[in-house]
Amino acid sequence: MSSFSDLNLPEILLKTVESLGYKEPTPIQEKAIPSMLQGRDVIGAAQTGTGKTAAYALPTIVHLTAAREELAKPFPRALILVPTRELAIQVDEAFKKFAAGTPIKLALIYGGVSYGAQLAALKEGANVVVATPGRLLDLQERRQIDLSKIEVLILDEVDRMLDMGFIEDVSRIIRLCPRERQTLLFSATINRTIREIAGWALREPVEIDVRSSALTADTISHAIYPVPIFQKYDLLLALLERTRYNSVIVFTRTKRDADRITEWLQANRISVTTMHADRSQNERIAALKGFRDGKYNVLVATDIASRGLDISGVSHVINYNVPEHPEDYVHRIGRTGRAGNEGEAFTLFSPDELSQLKAIEQLLGKTIERKKLEGFLYRQEPLMFNSTAVPAKKKRRNR
Ligand code: ADP
Ligand code: MG
Repeated sequence: MSSFSDLNLPEILLKTVESLGYKEPTPIQEKAIPSMLQGRDVIGAAQTGTGKTAAYALPTIVHLTAAREELAKPFPRALILVPTRELAIQVDEAFKKFAAGTPIKLALIYGGVSYGAQLAALKEGANVVVATPGRLLDLQERRQIDLSKIEVLILDEVDRMLDMGFIEDVSRIIRLCPRERQTLLFSATINRTIREIAGWALREPVEIDVRSSALTADTISHAIYPVPIFQKYDLLLALLERTRYNSVIVFTRTKRDADRITEWLQANRISVTTMHADRSQNERIAALKGFRDGKYNVLVATDIASRGLDISGVSHVINYNVPEHPEDYVHRIGRTGRAGNEGEAFTLFSPDELSQLKAIEQLLGKTIERKKLEGFLYRQEPLMFNSTAVPAKKKRRNR
């Protein structure tokens, strides 16, 4: 077992990680930090919840603080590019914690809000910029940010950035940075497009893959609740009433569903808030903050909240619909059972969703247990479909 003190980190950072309660480095931290400290480029393949932020933030802090006078330079020297505003906020917060006690200044850049504070942070000589692609390019076009002196470029959640159609933007941003730089690329999946980007944007990268064959953390237990489609609302409420939870995220397929379910749960006196793309940036921030701080116990959200967001203490994830894309199941479920905590994942399943469920079980390589909620008045006997799920060659577990 390794410890942070084996990683050649300066004393101040060892104290910081200790004060954050980190006892030992996660696998990606253990493997990536030494290469980064040597100045190598890195491709890191890791699922969410594996501690990537510290893996890239700690060596970046070492690099930036190597010489005091360098920190007084009035332009950014490190750029962290992330797909969504929520992630940008989260990475900025985490980075600030890791950099506590150092003079490092950050600027947080994302769209949908006014420019004032962001421009001010840049003018004050931010050393590190955490940004989403759109607003960053916007500021670059207005000549409000100088990327020509970036020494460390971090591309976080690259698969998600590509899914969101940011490939052109990301490529342009990479080209705006100097050739002579350190580049770190993180992604949960490494596909051909990502390899291509790595091919021209990275130099002899060290490849680190800490993905386990199990796609979801083994601290999470999964259950499928078959239910007639017209009883989904009722079953959701019954599940919430019978379950001892700290905090729950309920995922819905559409924004409309998210709003309807939120109203309906509110009417049932459940402390609930909602997050989806049609809510304003301020509403989204308030929802997330209220949920994090425990003001609300239930967050109803579309997949906008399913990737990368680190919300600690989420005890349950409930899929109101079976997710359409099997990877979304993995991402949604990844919101619970983080950092070794226990988590439960419930999926409400109506018979029209059988093909999506099969796709998920194929991806996981296992059948998820079907459950019936005792004491719930099923208006039709729920269809259990237990024998249909996994092709014969795959292992059957959890039966
Ligand atoms: P990722 O970016 O891989 O999804 P994060 O960087 O958001 O993961 O980290 C997930 C959670 O794990 C955070 O709450 C973080 O504080 C915590 N964490 C990170 N590294 C460690 C560690 N070495 N020990 C304990 N907790 C950690
Ligand atoms: Mg992350």
